[in-house]
Amino acid sequence: MTIFEPLWTQVAPPPPLGTDALPASADVAVIGAGVTGLAAARRLADAGRAVVVLEAARLGEGASAVNGGMAAYGLKISTRKAMARYGEPLGRELWQASLSAVDLLERIVQEEGIDCNYSRSGGASLGFNQRDRRGFAATAEWVQANLGFPLQVIAGDEMGSVVGSDRFAAALVDGFTAGCDPARYLYGLAAAAVRRGAALAEQAPVITLERHASGFTIETGRGRLRAGEVLLATNGYTGEWLPALRRRVIPIGSYIVTTEPLPAETAARLIPEGRMLWTSRRFLHYFRLTPDRRLLMGGRQNLSTDLDLAESARVLRATIGSFFPELAEAAITHSWTGKLGATFDQLPHIGRLDGKWYALGYTGHGLALGTHLGHEVGGLITGEVERSPFAEIPHPTRWYYRKRPWFLPLAARGFRLLDRLGR
Ligand SMILES: Cc1cc2nc3c(=O)[nH]c(=O)nc-3n(C[C@H](O)[C@H](O)[C@H](O)COP(=O)(O)OP(=O)(O)OC[C@H]3O[C@@H](n4cnc5c(N)ncnc54)[C@H](O)[C@@H]3O)c2cc1C
Repeated sequence: MTIFEPLWTQVAPPPPLGTDALPASADVAVIGAGVTGLAAARRLADAGRAVVVLEAARLGEGASAVNGGMAAYGLKISTRKAMARYGEPLGRELWQASLSAVDLLERIVQEEGIDCNYSRSGGASLGFNQRDRRGFAATAEWVQANLGFPLQVIAGDEMGSVVGSDRFAAALVDGFTAGCDPARYLYGLAAAAVRRGAALAEQAPVITLERHASGFTIETGRGRLRAGEVLLATNGYTGEWLPALRRRVIPIGSYIVTTEPLPAETAARLIPEGRMLWTSRRFLHYFRLTPDRRLLMGGRQNLSTDLDLAESARVLRATIGSFFPELAEAAITHSWTGKLGATFDQLPHIGRLDGKWYALGYTGHGLALGTHLGHEVGGLITGEVERSPFAEIPHPTRWYYRKRPWFLPLAARGFRLLDRLGR
């Protein structure tokens, strides 16, 4: 039987960290208790600021506790593209930030003693054909020559060392990517912020924000408070009540299923060394083993956020069967979804809108980067950090995006076509 809730939060329900009483005021109100908001709160509280984190739902009900748990190097776009767009120094800084993000996540896990099955297992992008193999070879060469970052191209008979599937012709392997249980990581991050004095108010949806000369009055579902600064960390859950921000971040559904636990021998053969794996397509699939040896398979389906979870389980099960025929009949135990926040330039951003800070837009790459941007924007607010590359790149919207992302089905069709053409 398939359970329609995330494996991660079912195995580890959220700890009771929330406060009963909403404080009357705070130096900083952080809206959204995902990795971004909590990493910011941890830093702000560490610097002695009175912080309250306002969360509409319960801790872990955004994307941060239900994602694939993969902390990969790099940004959603290639560094080559970033350098062409923003110039070499800024492009290089963005690349470096993507590495620092994974290192920061690791440091937090170690410093805070978070028990989340963290491991630097490494990762690999998987290609289906010889054109992909040639693309990987060119990427590995460029990345080594320009960034000094080692990537290894694996193909042919050696593919079994990366993935036990005949479907893939080549792999671009790294030893940098890490994996963890995202819910346990999020809870550990929340506990670290609370230990430093931050207050976490769950089931406190922010309804309105009013700006004054000296700060903000914030109306929530649990009452009103005042704050000197506000940080919006709402990513794919940014509501229409924030129209200027909403027009800069597009909610996209990502869907995951897990199989029943696999025999140890099968798991080790299908995904040797427990790497994090993803396909080199716009409509990518990402997959890995969970700590209890299930195969976790994720994908974007048609980009929409309202696909039925039974239907999603059917589609992802077919993908599992096509990659690993021996698992075609494996039971699907969990099927769930969450919303990621995409941007038109596929990069995350830190910014200010009408006095409010924001950090979001990871485009499906936010476990480590969300931690990094949260930590960085926290530092910008305290003054410990003077500048961030993510605040220096323009944050675009489009004239045709007002309230709803009506254009996603068209974009999905376009992406599928480009994938088929191998562009
Ligand atoms: C299924 C799935 C798989 C993914 N896999 C990966 C992966 O393997 N690796 C990776 O790097 N990234 C992955 N991502 C992306 C990653 O999870 C996100 O980029 C990251 O969690 C974003 O964190 P966040 O804190 O910015 O936002 P979120 O974790 O989404 O938190 C935003 C919070 O804001 C709250 N909120 C919104 N409006 C209000 C309001 N008005 N008042 C109060 N609170 C409000 C929401 O309730 C929510 O809890 C995945 C995403 C999904 C959905």
